Amino acid sequence: MKNFFRSICAALSVLLSAGCASTANNNFNSLLWMQSSAEYRANTTQAYNMALKNIDAALRDRKWTAAKEQTGEFSSLPPAVVMDIDETVLDNSRYMGKMVLDGGEWSQATWDEWLALKDATAVPGAVEFINAMKDKHVRVVFISNRECRKGGKPGSGCSQEADTIENLSKVGVAGVLPENVLLAGERDGWTSEKKSRREEISKQYRIVMLFGDDLGDFLADVKSSITPEERDRLVGEYKNNWGRKWFMLPNPTYGSWLNVLGDPKSRYIRKY
Ligand SMILES: [Mg+2]
Repeated sequence: MKNFFRSICAALSVLLSAGCASTANNNFNSLLWMQSSAEYRANTTQAYNMALKNIDAALRDRKWTAAKEQTGEFSSLPPAVVMDIDETVLDNSRYMGKMVLDGGEWSQATWDEWLALKDATAVPGAVEFINAMKDKHVRVVFISNRECRKGGKPGSGCSQEADTIENLSKVGVAGVLPENVLLAGERDGWTSEKKSRREEISKQYRIVMLFGDDLGDFLADVKSSITPEERDRLVGEYKNNWGRKWFMLPNPTYGSWLNVLGDPKSRYIRKY
């Protein structure tokens, strides 16, 4: 087994011109899975099909909300679904693919370059679901940790938001309004913790469903200073929400699941 991994490592090193311990190499199999497997497509399609199956029940029941942040009287508010963007609606695996094949690590500069290309493809099932919401008069609001860095005058928005809206339009989600795209840093207090943005939306809408690829797209305070065991426990605590109010898309390449693990990460691998 050891030799097997050594030879794989050697082959990858040649292929990638980088050492086996590098971050880029760690995503090799994860990216293959996202980009090549029928299983990935089946997973995302399954999530969106399930959501579509449940949406009418969510709309009928005026006491139904998917957001813990939704408090007070919300039954008369118009319905909205809240969606993360990256690896939930848009697929950035080609950005990661470039790192795997050419080397290098994530940086703000290369990420901004990628966003400016507006060339991300859609996560399978997402576009059909979003467009079905239009027919049902359900507002789709996006909460993304794409960072809004305002270059122009106050109130002029940011290029990251405009690029995101254009990319969404290219994959078939037309007419998204800037006010329905809430980026990190767009307002004071809008940090990468999405709680404050869910609170903001819950003042205007009854949030009937949440979509994301990270536990932080559903719950607050789960992205740092927390153990994997506690995150597991929370998934169990809210087990009735999954596939009903909360829809998790698969992402084995990055996320707070990885960030909460200390180094060396090998200590989280269990063996018999
Ligand atoms: Mg995401």
